[in-house]
Amino acid sequence: MISLMNTGNSAQNKIFLDRGDITRLDCDCIVNAANNSLLGGGGVDGAIHRAAGKKLLEECRTLHGCATGEAKITGGYNLKAKYVIHTVGPIYSGAASDAKMLADCYRNSLNLAKQYGIRSIAFPAISTGVYGYPAEQAAGIAVRTIHQWFDANADYGMEVILSCFNDVTYNLYKILLKDEMK
Ligand code: ADP
Repeated sequence: MISLMNTGNSAQNKIFLDRGDITRLDCDCIVNAANNSLLGGGGVDGAIHRAAGKKLLEECRTLHGCATGEAKITGGYNLKAKYVIHTVGPIYSGAASDAKMLADCYRNSLNLAKQYGIRSIAFPAISTGVYGYPAEQAAGIAVRTIHQWFDANADYGMEVILSCFNDVTYNLYKILLKDEMK
């Protein structure tokens, strides 16, 4: 894992990049790019459910789904992470509302994490798989929204890990974060 930056007035908050499988990360919380049902799916959702075990699905059934852009929290069960935050990204349509909903996913997940005292949280590149969000735009929204949250919560001390499952995502984040280093 490499630490790339710590900018502006967000001295207590940091972003890290990790190239690999989010289910292996040893942090307080991992974020699931779920679907509205919260009952499992493919991609990172399937991987998280496989790694966490059947109890995760049992708890998800009690949540009665999740609206796009919103976030809900469960335990992490067999994961190293104590919590999973499930958020639902937009299915890319090209409408202006896509970007707002994607930003909502990051902001609402971070707010929920803070409510639970979480200090380290890993995000997959939400919506950039089956949901078809162009990777470069999605990476820009992720980084911007995380920095906005850092500015609004400057003294909190959150470590955000951007989990990259492919080189395209990894390289996009690397460029974006390097550009913003001061
Ligand atoms: P969505 O439906 O939100 O597009 P996907 O799971 O299809 O969700 O993909 C979201 C992102 O998660 C993609 O960039 C994909 O490469 C990545 N991904 C898939 N599996 C994993 C994993 N085990 N760890 C981290 N990222 C993953």
